[in-house]
Amino acid sequence: MSETVVEIIGLQKAFGPLHVLRGIDLEVRRGEVVCVIGPSGSGKSTLLRCVNLLEQPTGGRVAVGGVELTDPDVDIDAARRRIGMVFQQFNLFSHLTVLDNLTIAQRKVLRRGKAEAEEVARRNLARVGLAEKADAMPAQLSGGQQQRVAIARSLAMDPELMLFDEPTSALDPELVGDVLGVMRTLAEAGMTMLVVTHEMQFAREVADRVLFMDGGVVVEQGPPERVIAAPQHERTRAFLSRVL
Ligand code: ADP
Ligand code: MG
Repeated sequence: MSETVVEIIGLQKAFGPLHVLRGIDLEVRRGEVVCVIGPSGSGKSTLLRCVNLLEQPTGGRVAVGGVELTDPDVDIDAARRRIGMVFQQFNLFSHLTVLDNLTIAQRKVLRRGKAEAEEVARRNLARVGLAEKADAMPAQLSGGQQQRVAIARSLAMDPELMLFDEPTSALDPELVGDVLGVMRTLAEAGMTMLVVTHEMQFAREVADRVLFMDGGVVVEQGPPERVIAAPQHERTRAFLSRVL
């Protein structure tokens, strides 16, 4: 039995009168890749944001690596440090080189020295196929390359969990494949990943489990060959008929 990395029990999130998450239960074990699919507005981003406490849940429990994030006494910064997050927007520092984008948090947050931070940075740039771009400025890179830099920057922090929120949605179609390729390699290397995506082919091939969300609940979940290829629920079938 492998170790539980994420444990979510009865998660609720409301924004004022808007009840966005209505009781989510989710367990992700070490090395597992879980893809979250569902229509726009169903609460997918909010779910991810509750996993690293960018949003404060209004009910239920979230634990990562055995640390209860919803415990009022928890050291949020320490807990967040173990979680990498990649968004649709890459959020690189535009005035810093690629290498400096990868070293700054290592130095400030993990207190690594310059040589070590640069060594880790270069190793992770190589992992995403961008070793030769260390001295480039973000604006000199394509969107796909910038997103791979953002992934490398997260990896440089040695996360035990990676969250991806539609990482390819802002990219030109011809750049999507390289980013998905990096994510696939990461999955094959055993990274624990929670991925919100509309890329059904990726979910089908890479996910250990697919979660279909609608209206703030998990409508169904299971291996991709069931949820994507043979969905049990009408709502899942309706969604898939629109995106496939
Ligand atoms: P998804 O990622 O599945 O498209 P979201 O989690 O982004 O859905 O949003 C779910 C619902 O919550 C939407 O109706 C959205 O407008 C609302 N919402 C998200 N964030 C906030 C916020 N900070 N304040 C108010 N409403 C929000
Ligand atoms: Mg979203």
